[in-house]
Formats: sequence, C-alpha cells, structure tokens
Amino acid sequence: MTPDTQRFRDAMFSYAPTPLAVLSRGEGARVWDADGKEYLDFLAGIAVNALGHAHPVFVDAVSRQAATLAHVSNYFATEPQLELAERLQRLTGGDAVFFGNSGTEVIEAAVKVARRTGRPRILALEKSFHGRTMGALSITGKPALRAPFEPLLDGPEFLPTTVEALEAAIGDDVAALVLEPIKGEAGVLDLPPGYLAAARELTARHGALLVLDEIQTGAGRTGDWFAFQHAGELPEGATPDLVALAKGIGGGFPIGALVAFGGAQHILQPGDHGTTFGGNPLATATANAVLGEIERAGLVENSRAMGERIRDGLAALSHPAITDVSGRGLLVGIGLAGPWAKDVSAAAFELGLIVNAAADDRVRLAPPLTIDSSDVDRFLDLFSTALERLPA
Ligand code: PLP
Repeated sequence: MTPDTQRFRDAMFSYAPTPLAVLSRGEGARVWDADGKEYLDFLAGIAVNALGHAHPVFVDAVSRQAATLAHVSNYFATEPQLELAERLQRLTGGDAVFFGNSGTEVIEAAVKVARRTGRPRILALEKSFHGRTMGALSITGKPALRAPFEPLLDGPEFLPTTVEALEAAIGDDVAALVLEPIKGEAGVLDLPPGYLAAARELTARHGALLVLDEIQTGAGRTGDWFAFQHAGELPEGATPDLVALAKGIGGGFPIGALVAFGGAQHILQPGDHGTTFGGNPLATATANAVLGEIERAGLVENSRAMGERIRDGLAALSHPAITDVSGRGLLVGIGLAGPWAKDVSAAAFELGLIVNAAADDRVRLAPPLTIDSSDVDRFLDLFSTALERLPA
C-alpha cells in the first residue's frame, strides 16, 4: 500500500510527508504493513521497543494499570512511581530521580539543573544529539538543526571529542559537561578510549557536573545496563552526576527519567521544575514491567551475545562496502565506504528488513533486546543481499 502522504503530512506536519510504510501490527522483532508484508525490525522504534512488539509483559502491564489508575498528578505519589524510582536507583547506583515523558524533556531538566548552579558555561560535544526542544537543541552539536532557531540558550560550547579539547575548555565557570557515551544519532560513534574517565576526572576537578545522555544507550542496549557501567569506562568507584534516560526504559510507552547522583539531587529546589504527566502510574508501571522483564529474561546478556553474533557475522561477510562496525551490544553502527546508507536501508526495506541510515555513510541497528540467533542470521542474509544491490 502506498502511504497516503497527505494524511501523514496532516498528522505530522514537521516531517517529510513520505513515511516508509503504514505499519499495522507487530510481534516480537517482526512488524507487518497494511498490505500484510512482513519486516524484520532491526530499528525497534529507534532503540525503544526493548521487548519487541506486543510482548505479553508489556501488554499486561499497560492493560492492568490502565484499568487501575492511569494518572493522578504529582500532588500525589503512587506505588509504581516509587517502585520505578527505587529500581532505577538500584540499577544505576544513583540516589534520586525526576520523571519526564520523553528524552528531550529530561535533558531540559538537566539543563535547568546546570543553569541553577549559577555557573554560565555548558560544554557539549560536536555531532551530539540531545533533543529538539529549545534547551536540548541549545546543547545539540549539529549546527544545521540549531541554525533556524537561533538565538538559543547562551552558554553552550561544542568541543571536538578529544581529551585535549576538554582540558583546554574546562574551567571553574563550567556548570556541566553533557555527552552521550555513544553518539547514536551521529551514526553510532564511539568515544575515544579513556575519554569518559578523563571527562569524569576533569569535571570533578573543576566542580562541574558530568551529565550522561543515555537516552539511546541505556536499559541494556549496549550489553550493560548503562553504557557508563561498561568495565573500565569510569574510574573505580566514580559515578556521573546526572544520567538522562528515556526510549528503552518504557519499551514503547513514553517516559523519561533523570537520575541524580550525590549532591546533584539538591540543586533544583522544590517548585523549580515540574510536569503534569511525568512519572504517572501508567508510564511507571509499564517501565517497571519492561525493566523487570529485561532482568528476568537476561536480556542485557542477550544484548551482548547477539551484538557479538552480529559483529562476527558482519566481519565474516568481509564486504568491501563495509569500513567499520561501531557501538556495543545491540547498538551497532555500520560504516560504509561511500554515502550509501540511504540506498542500503531502502534496499533492505524492499527485502523486508528495517535498518536506519543514521548518517550518509553509516547504517544504524538497534533491534529489540529479545532477538535470537535465527533473527541475527536472517538479518545477515537480508543485509548482505541489500549490499549486493549497491551500484558497482
Ligand atoms: N538524546 C539522545 C541521545 C537521543 O538519541 C534522543 C532521541 O533520539 C534524544 C536525546 C531525544 O529524545 P526524544 O526524542 O525522546 O525527545
């Protein structure tokens, strides 16, 4: 079925009016379009559907909570909200949580924490992506996204991702350094080895906050619960000050969480920031169920194992168009020898495989954490066929 471009345009007027397809149902790592064509979904709503589609645990959590108590406002506490805060504290090692409804909203909260320190400067990285609302956009290192909306917040500076650049820029007037442990939207770009440890050391020395945007990398995606927990990333015993989470923690239900460590939880004062929907029982009960299932079913370990199988499989293809494979676990970037990512993802789509062109020359994979070996083998088969369709 050709998507109705006018109806889509009228539904999402800031998007190009050309959706790839009209999808009508999903199950596990498969989705079907309105004509019944099946796709292997190796994007999972951009690293969101951690349990895949229509997982019974997700369905049950949404249905039960909707039938019990969906929303009450933050004049009240609810059990799912308190439980999710405790679960995130346990999983991250953090001390307190602020709930929002999306990634960009919890980045806004982090920007407000940074502002509230009274220090004027915020450091961010070139090619970073932190969201589309004005505060998050102000710290997003993609000039083309920022330009139409300037002037934005005063204070953010964008650094090349090197320890030398950070050493040169940091000072006692810096409120925060904000960064993604892996730059997903830029095409799954890894930080240089040792960068995160140096960032922690330098921010601590100057009393600046280290804010990690784990919106894309969190919730088991990289083969650890959170990318900063990967062995050797941070010095022994060190933690970030703030970690922003969204996407996978809700498994498809909109939710965001900003986790604060130590003194960072005391910078915003009661009344400084708020949200009507943030942390409502429907969203938090669902996130509890999703994170509980990731734990119960060992999906963090599965992410690591299936990520390795994908990497081994791509290496075995030894296709001349592939230059490198980046990322960790089930966040995978495939570098191409030319600006062919859109051609490859279009060819894959034709074949019934959903992947994403995150940069001109980089394909991104972010499948459900539930995929198994046969899904990976099917992916490798379809992806190599898509590569063969590149013009010679
Ligand atoms: N930060 C990162 C690293 C992201 O990948 C995204 C979304 O892609 C965001 C922030 C913004 O999240 P949202 O689209 O939920 O506002």
